[in-house]
Amino acid sequence: MALFENAPAKINLSLDVLSKREDGYHNVEMIMTTIDLSDRVMLSEIAEDRIEVALESRYVPSDERNLAYKAAKVFKDTYRIRKGVRINIEKSIPVSAGLGGGSTDAAAVLRGLNRLWSLNIPTEKLQEMGDMIGTDVPFCVQGKTAIATGRGEKIERLPSPPPGWVVLAKPDIGVSSRTIFQRIDMKEISHPNTSQILRALNSGDFQLMCDYIGNSLEAITMNLHPEVLRIKKAMVQAGASGVLMSGSGPTVYGLVEHHSKARRIYNSMCGFCDEVYLVRLLG
Ligand code: ATP
Repeated sequence: MALFENAPAKINLSLDVLSKREDGYHNVEMIMTTIDLSDRVMLSEIAEDRIEVALESRYVPSDERNLAYKAAKVFKDTYRIRKGVRINIEKSIPVSAGLGGGSTDAAAVLRGLNRLWSLNIPTEKLQEMGDMIGTDVPFCVQGKTAIATGRGEKIERLPSPPPGWVVLAKPDIGVSSRTIFQRIDMKEISHPNTSQILRALNSGDFQLMCDYIGNSLEAITMNLHPEVLRIKKAMVQAGASGVLMSGSGPTVYGLVEHHSKARRIYNSMCGFCDEVYLVRLLG
């Protein structure tokens, strides 16, 4: 038997770093929403009790370092399952981009194994397993739109954003989240106005949402990679209603309410940056 899971990317409407914790992680407050750019994850049971990962990517390993592999391992260990699984990943989400590509694959494996082996494990338990794999995995288990706190493991659903379009522009660099988090100076960091984004989501106000999107990590990544600032300026210049770097970067996204305008911005960004996408907000 085989089954498919869709694994959508996310963008951060907000990412606030609140404090540094004793365990070395940071307390964060992040509003994330899913977008219509997805990997496809296929799961099939195999005769032998082992985990196989197959994917075509120059940047992502297919061994036990793959987050999809880790998810299957945590799942099998937690529920003491002695069956094997083959995981095929068709990657469309750019890697090390701030779009949660690895996390969403891992979350898709948790959901998919739950179905494959008919276990009926509740979402909260899948999220707990997700927390053992990576910061964005608990959010990706349910996707949609949510606020994540703690180190990212406490998830509360939020209303979807009003309909709209996202132009994504990724410079030709990968950014490691760890490097960016290590450079945080709590005395200097900026904080987004999360409550205004909540207000925008609750009232379905597209422009208010655009006005308040914010990311504590943006300045740090821009300092390290000035091309991120260059792309942000180009996206603002092109006319996007709200522009922000997602996650720890380097992808910059622009929010646009209407498709015709989003298409124009997409076209102008194509002259600026190699990897550009135009997708819908899914929420
Ligand atoms: P986030 O926004 O959650 O910080 P990201 O989009 O910046 O994530 P990913 O694409 O998840 O970053 O990849 C980060 C690292 O994880 C890379 O070094 C990559 O090799 C590794 N990785 C492991 N498994 C996967 C996977 N299934 N897909 C993508 N990257 C993976």
